[in-house]
Amino acid sequence: MARTMNFNAGPAALPLAALERARQELTDFAGSGMSVMEHSHRGKDYEKVHDEAIALLRELLDVRDTHEVLFLQGGASQMFAQIPMNLLEEGSVADYVVTGAWGEKALSEAKAVAKLFDADVHLACSTGTGDGKEKSYVRAPLPSEVNVTPRAAYLHVTSNETIHGVEFEADAARPFPQGGGVPLVVDMSSDFLWKKLDVSRFGLVYAGAQKNIGPSGIVVAIVSKELVAKGRKDIPKIFQLRTHAENKSLYNTPPTFGVYMVRNVLAWLKEQGGLPAMEARNRQKAAKLYSVIDANTGFFRCPVEKQIRSVMNVVFRLPSEQQEEALVAEAKKRGMVGLKGHRSVGGIRVSTYNAVEPAWVDALCELMQEFAKRG
Ligand SMILES: *Cc1c(COP(=O)(O)O)cnc(C)c1O
Repeated sequence: MARTMNFNAGPAALPLAALERARQELTDFAGSGMSVMEHSHRGKDYEKVHDEAIALLRELLDVRDTHEVLFLQGGASQMFAQIPMNLLEEGSVADYVVTGAWGEKALSEAKAVAKLFDADVHLACSTGTGDGKEKSYVRAPLPSEVNVTPRAAYLHVTSNETIHGVEFEADAARPFPQGGGVPLVVDMSSDFLWKKLDVSRFGLVYAGAQKNIGPSGIVVAIVSKELVAKGRKDIPKIFQLRTHAENKSLYNTPPTFGVYMVRNVLAWLKEQGGLPAMEARNRQKAAKLYSVIDANTGFFRCPVEKQIRSVMNVVFRLPSEQQEEALVAEAKKRGMVGLKGHRSVGGIRVSTYNAVEPAWVDALCELMQEFAKRG
């Protein structure tokens, strides 16, 4: 059976090698006569997988001893609440930079938590214009537009806005906003592990696994030991980052099969040449798509300012919704799925995560050229 060319935004394509490995090991893991899912999370066989996943992450990103690597649950959405629950206290302020729909959600959850704790949440900057269905986000703020509260508990940024196709640091001219000494907390759900990252710059980065590192059910968090130690102690244990750091993410039963799949994906990543190789491959895929869009500006239109166009989620419009539907339908006939833009913004969205093969992007570019020629 030919493999479907999967451009879904998440859950998204996984590397075939990682899936094949799971198939091979499914009913007899490490010669144990059972699947990894049937092992105790406290047993040696599972522990080895768990430790390997953490070690691979540390190796790929060169995470030093200053930061913890955690596997959490509840999705990035739970982190929207869990981060302020840990880091806000009476009278303190958290700052948010909003460059798209996920940032809006993070801000709104933080506000709910702040109310409970007599703390404050401050919008340091929003690049949104318009309202409701017309609301759009097409740019990154200039450093001068970001108004950070001195001594804020943290500054929250969404690295890549998955729906709007807006990404910080894809271009060196659009770095993450800086908060002076304020710890930077970044939602990297849709652009984690696509290139190297200097983790020491951040207080906390987090990412739902289902975009670029594995199946849904796991959130990876890399958090400085300093922030872990600062976390509140009067919230339930299960929500304290400290609990998971102290227990190597084995306080409660983790989604063991998910961690196992993350391990497979990370092992594949390393084999491919690690993050430098991934970056080259990803940049090439995105550059091809944007060059077809830019060579046919009478037909395709990418609303996003060039320097912050996402390398992971390429969004664009055709002249009419009918033509967009026709493109999605014709792509499906050729074995390509997941191209419809998010329901809140419409248009086309091509997600080009690590596991998306360059040949799939070539096939899509060819189809786009045909459409543009037809007009
Ligand atoms: C997908 C996504 C989320 C939400 O992830 P869940 O795992 O569904 O909670 C949050 N932030 C960004 C940037 C995302 O792409």
